[in-house]
Amino acid sequence: FPAQLTDLVRDHVREVADFPAPGVLFRDITPLLADGAAFGALVRGLAEKYRGQVDAVAGLESRGFILAAPLALELGVGMITVRKAGRLPGPVLGVDYALEYGTARMELRPETISEGQRVLIIDDVLATGGTGAAAIELVERSGGDVVALAMLLELAALGGRTKLDGYQVDSVLVY
Ligand code: AMP
Repeated sequence: FPAQLTDLVRDHVREVADFPAPGVLFRDITPLLADGAAFGALVRGLAEKYRGQVDAVAGLESRGFILAAPLALELGVGMITVRKAGRLPGPVLGVDYALEYGTARMELRPETISEGQRVLIIDDVLATGGTGAAAIELVERSGGDVVALAMLLELAALGGRTKLDGYQVDSVLVY
């Protein structure tokens, strides 16, 4: 991504200590979303990288949705919702994965993806990579081809990239 896109994210993301739990440094993208010029520049900058290369954009609930919808429209393709457990009407595919404490589950309606469709996965933060890895599995089991994973922020110390080995991971800003 161009340096001005990285600067834009750095300048509009807030760090909040001990949220939502003690010891977590939360990266808050709400200032970026609330700034119309910045949000627009972000979406256009993301679109520039993937124009003509993807047939759908898959957003990861919840903040990935906020990025995926305008990006899909800008690219002229559809949006796919990869959702937390129990939110989508069936039939759904599901993938369970381990969190630091306990487990989580992401679900996808396979009918929203067609065979061979080129899919870009997007979310706000790449942390441990568990959510991204689950999304890859869901898209592929639905017949889609994962072109890349786009993340606004990557927390490199958590090593999420190793869970996404073999896939193109594009982070606007790496900490
Ligand atoms: P992971 O599966 O560990 O890569 O976590 C990714 C999901 O958790 C993303 O959807 C993020 O929105 C959220 N997340 C994890 N860590 C943070 C953080 N420090 N700040 C903001 N969001 C986070």
